[in-house]
Amino acid sequence: MLHIGCHLSSTKGFAAMGRTALELGGDTFQFFTRNPRGSRAKELDPADAASLAALLRERHFAPLVAHAPYTLNLCGEKEETRRFAAETMADDLARLEHIPGQLYNFHPGSHVGQGMGRGIELIAQGLNAILKKEQTTIVLLETMAGKGSEVGGRFEELRAILDRVELQDKIGVCLDTCHVHDGGYDIVNDLDGVLTEFDRVIGLERLKAIHLNDSKNPLGSRKDRHACLGEGCIGIDALTRIVRHSALQGLPFCLETPNELPGYKKEIEMMRHLAE
Ligand code: FE
Ligand code: FE
Ligand code: ZN
Repeated sequence: MLHIGCHLSSTKGFAAMGRTALELGGDTFQFFTRNPRGSRAKELDPADAASLAALLRERHFAPLVAHAPYTLNLCGEKEETRRFAAETMADDLARLEHIPGQLYNFHPGSHVGQGMGRGIELIAQGLNAILKKEQTTIVLLETMAGKGSEVGGRFEELRAILDRVELQDKIGVCLDTCHVHDGGYDIVNDLDGVLTEFDRVIGLERLKAIHLNDSKNPLGSRKDRHACLGEGCIGIDALTRIVRHSALQGLPFCLETPNELPGYKKEIEMMRHLAE
């Protein structure tokens, strides 16, 4: 069965997101751990978190994807920028232990002119400071479109980070279909080839989640503008091949398309139908 859901707003709390996901036909979802631009996290309500954890078990959800604020930069130029990112991520991970066993996705960072090699070193250093043996959350590096000085637009960059992480069982990868397409990986005409390349460079066993998005821009544009499913340059046929691909079975698929809830509901329904 396809595990699919969408990005949800966390303003009404954890259990409310779980109920909304079910109403939309989802059995997973993604949410920002805090304001995506800012830094302040709301006071966590342990009862609310426990109530979501119970719902996830009862209704057999696939792992959820908690998304770090995208302004964090583990490989920023200033030490203060890097420390802030690391402290925020460590705090997110501590909070996530109230809902054990989920995924925590983050954008690896932008090296802002320091060079890809230095960026990779700093990201790995940051992760080694953050990850803890006791945590039940797996942290995911997101594949990026490679705009500006983004790290993670090439599978090799993610592999280089993974190689430097000490706690290997706490780290994985989330593949964003819009990002890899915009990064130049042709998932429309050669999905098998791209997944073979992913397996060769990173290893498919590292892949823990998919962001299922169409793209407003053509292959290799390095833009990162998401489109609704079937309304972009990836198209519904390629997206259908993705949800049906044998190498991706069992993974949680999260939509990050420009939709309100009714639009998400339609896309979830449509992909469940097309995946059959
Ligand atoms: Fe993201
Ligand atoms: Fe994404
Ligand atoms: Zn994106």
